[in-house]
Amino acid sequence: MKHVRSIGELGLDGVRRLLDLSTHMAEINSRPVPKVPALRGRTVVSLFLEDSTRTRLSFETAAKRLSAETMTFSVSTSSVNKGESLRDTIETITDMGVDAFVVRHKSSGIPWQIAKWTSASIINAGDGAHQHPTQALVDCYTIREAFGCADLEGRTIAIVGDIRHSRVARSNVEAFTMLGARVILVAPSTLLLDEVEHWPVEIRTELDTTLGEVDVLYMLRLQSERMSQGLIPHLGEYATRFGLNAQRVARLRNGARIMHPGPMNRGVEMHVDPSELEQSLIHRQVANGVSVRMAVLFSALSAGGESTSVLKEVAS
Ligand code: ASP
Repeated sequence: MKHVRSIGELGLDGVRRLLDLSTHMAEINSRPVPKVPALRGRTVVSLFLEDSTRTRLSFETAAKRLSAETMTFSVSTSSVNKGESLRDTIETITDMGVDAFVVRHKSSGIPWQIAKWTSASIINAGDGAHQHPTQALVDCYTIREAFGCADLEGRTIAIVGDIRHSRVARSNVEAFTMLGARVILVAPSTLLLDEVEHWPVEIRTELDTTLGEVDVLYMLRLQSERMSQGLIPHLGEYATRFGLNAQRVARLRNGARIMHPGPMNRGVEMHVDPSELEQSLIHRQVANGVSVRMAVLFSALSAGGESTSVLKEVAS
């Protein structure tokens, strides 16, 4: 697979292959020296035109652990500030001989547009409210790890909160249902979209009546930066109806787990400290981010990278 831009483009086979490859990468990451020569001579650029902590750092760590060269593009010190267009920026960086762009941008669809301007691989690290495929892969991997299962068949996952602005929700609904999970979306109707009626999910507007049914409670960040209208009449009311507090955690069934893609809005959707909750998988999501992104970069950049036997050769 040359590009990793959406869960739909990967399809079930692509998703399963990347999850299996992530297990090999996790083994490399457990070594005292977690570094292999798999992508020696390859160059990966991170082009983040929107803020990021976890995704950018985990991609850069992943590239380094596979021995790729890395370049970091920083908008604030680049010619974008002199008015250079995105196309000229991409073509300039391509001329330097890069193999992959890891791209984050506020506009939906940008990874497809960029692929027309460069021969390099494009990895989507989040395009507007559209897709965040590597987050979905991280989340599927983390659930498989926590429940010790190969697929998500028979699992019920509730995704709670700002569905409307969430690329994580879009990618995760696709990936979770592809792997067989039952997905429930829980949100105020103003934070849903008309299109959700066509998604293979159940829709609820009450969190409390859903808690006892789920294996995974997936909390979303309220994305104030993408809200152009007053979709939430009162932040306090949102926090009371949809925030995760200790009483709600206590109502989860035994073995249920809590996830959040980060960054968290403490006091809005999270009123508990996840570091103190045994149900929380949030630290596992971050840790697994490196292994999953190593799998994504390896697949996109190695000749014959579809096969895990190629990895075994270069990783041993
Ligand atoms: N970090 C995730 C993203 O970039 C989730 C979030 O920002 O709420 O989409």
